Amino acid sequence: MSEYNKLNELIGQSKKILITSHENPDGDALGSMLSLGLGLLKLNKEVVFYNKDGVPEILDFLPHSEEIIDSLDSLSGPFDIVFAVDCSGTYRAGKEFERYAKSENCLNLVIIDHHETTGSNADIHILDTNASSTGIMIYRILKSLDVEIDESISKNIYTTIISDTGSFNYSNTSSETFRVAAELVDAGADPSEISQALYENEPLRKLELFKLVIPTLDITPGKTIASIFVDKEMFSETGTTREDTEGMVNIPRSIKGVQVAMLFRQEKGEDWKISLRSKGQVNVAKIAEGFGGGGHARAAGCSLKGSISEVKSEVIRSIEEALG
Ligand code: 5GP
Ligand code: MN
Repeated sequence: MSEYNKLNELIGQSKKILITSHENPDGDALGSMLSLGLGLLKLNKEVVFYNKDGVPEILDFLPHSEEIIDSLDSLSGPFDIVFAVDCSGTYRAGKEFERYAKSENCLNLVIIDHHETTGSNADIHILDTNASSTGIMIYRILKSLDVEIDESISKNIYTTIISDTGSFNYSNTSSETFRVAAELVDAGADPSEISQALYENEPLRKLELFKLVIPTLDITPGKTIASIFVDKEMFSETGTTREDTEGMVNIPRSIKGVQVAMLFRQEKGEDWKISLRSKGQVNVAKIAEGFGGGGHARAAGCSLKGSISEVKSEVIRSIEEALG
């Protein structure tokens, strides 16, 4: 039996369902969990939405996002199904969830994902590295369950596509992406409304942060690897948080001739989170995996400890090796 059929059978036998997605959630993470849960509610399931980091302000327009909780403390398990969507493994959803998924509160763990980096102990693991977004996989699952794609579901799934394909611009955009998007527009998703909510709704503080980040732009002598960084001082000077760095890696990526672009973001102390983007020559999922992270061939992430110059040279060395 295919993993999709196994899942449909399991859903048929289940009542209580918990759904999460990866930490620092993006549009695909939240749109996927919400659309899946809204569909399951139509099948009379009890659904709880959880994300360790809650909902970033820029995504609070997503229908039903106010129902997402950020702690598992008060939940009464067990759950028949615990879903981790847009996650290569439970670790991507944070330590609290990882523990929960191993406990007696989780009767069946299901992962639905499209990342290259993988490895999990889920009871059902549905993986499609060709899917433009995890949301498109949720769309297929809901269709196979005969769930009506209503306006709220369509807005959530449409956002997953816009978010992960860079508005139909990246190499993960296929004819299927447009076909599903067209069906979602027919079902009520409004492209201009969603685009405005995502891209014309930035808090001024984010632009103040951009002003501090632009001078950190650094490019290797060969002009193929470009990076910027954001440190704690910049965050505190502008009253911003990591949420406000969303999309910033597109600044170095936009430069002519650049093959790999990076954003280094300071977390706690000497911990840095790195966003990697490739224009095609280098598989950045492999680079990130070398540092314990992962992702897609053209968009990946990892964490490293050290001073900014140490961390930067370590990652650049690894990319230079890959560039040959
Ligand atoms: P972003 O740079 O936007 O945070 O992440 C880019 C892509 O890499 C996303 O698909 C994200 O899920 C994945 N990613 C980011 N950080 C990590 C990480 O630490 N581990 C893994 N496995 N994937 C990551
Ligand atoms: Mn995704």
